[in-house]
Amino acid sequence: MSDDSICPICKDYLVEPRIYECGHTICESCMIKSDKTVKENTLNTFQLPVYKCCLCRHETLKEWFRRPINHNLQCILIKNDEYKKATEIYKKNKDEEEPEYDTIPQGINLSRIVTRKRREKCNQIYKEILPSLVNAALEGKPYITITTNLKNIQCVADLLAKKLFEENKIYKLQSSSRECQIEFIPSNRSYQCEYINRRYALLSQNRHEDEDEDEDEDEDEDVPMDDNALDILATVTVNNVLNQLPQLTIPIARQQLND
Ligand SMILES: [Zn+2]
Ligand SMILES: [Zn+2]
Repeated sequence: MSDDSICPICKDYLVEPRIYECGHTICESCMIKSDKTVKENTLNTFQLPVYKCCLCRHETLKEWFRRPINHNLQCILIKNDEYKKATEIYKKNKDEEEPEYDTIPQGINLSRIVTRKRREKCNQIYKEILPSLVNAALEGKPYITITTNLKNIQCVADLLAKKLFEENKIYKLQSSSRECQIEFIPSNRSYQCEYINRRYALLSQNRHEDEDEDEDEDEDEDVPMDDNALDILATVTVNNVLNQLPQLTIPIARQQLND
């Protein structure tokens, strides 16, 4: 057979040849694959996918099923028995999920459709994730992260959050294209599970001051103390002084303590 019968992408028979707006023709199967890749790589949930001709990268918003079959070419190619057979096999195996959007009614109410669809989508996601949320809560996890179905979650994150607030009293829901995080309670954890003692700087500063004052003393007598113990010790002592002298602020109280 001539080159006209071969898809320039998969090098197989040009079965169900479809035409891009630029005029290039490739087989339907390759077009579907290419569109699917574009859809998957469109990271922004609210952005329309921009499809590209596989041959010249010409951009279009039309999905593959809106691009016409190249009937002229098909009529010529179908005369070949092998091609005809390949076409029949393809049609037989093809999913019959081709959307039928050719008859869009005039004045279609998009706001009503989107409101209904969002409610449906929210309820469906809620039903899916609730058992996992309950499990996580039972395991004492203060928050969980969802990394799948993110585009759908993003679409209805506001509704989903409202439902989880009202029905399950969660603290926070955060949704992005990379993850959805549901916090049951406020928690001060960092993502690396790294915790820093905020009073450490203050404590080591005081230690340096002490060292300056005790310069004449033997350093060997300096018993190293656990930071945590120091922290608790300082707090307890300051509180004791404060109880006796309630008008004093903490730095003054500490000064008194050192004297
Ligand atoms: Zn192809
Ligand atoms: Zn093209």
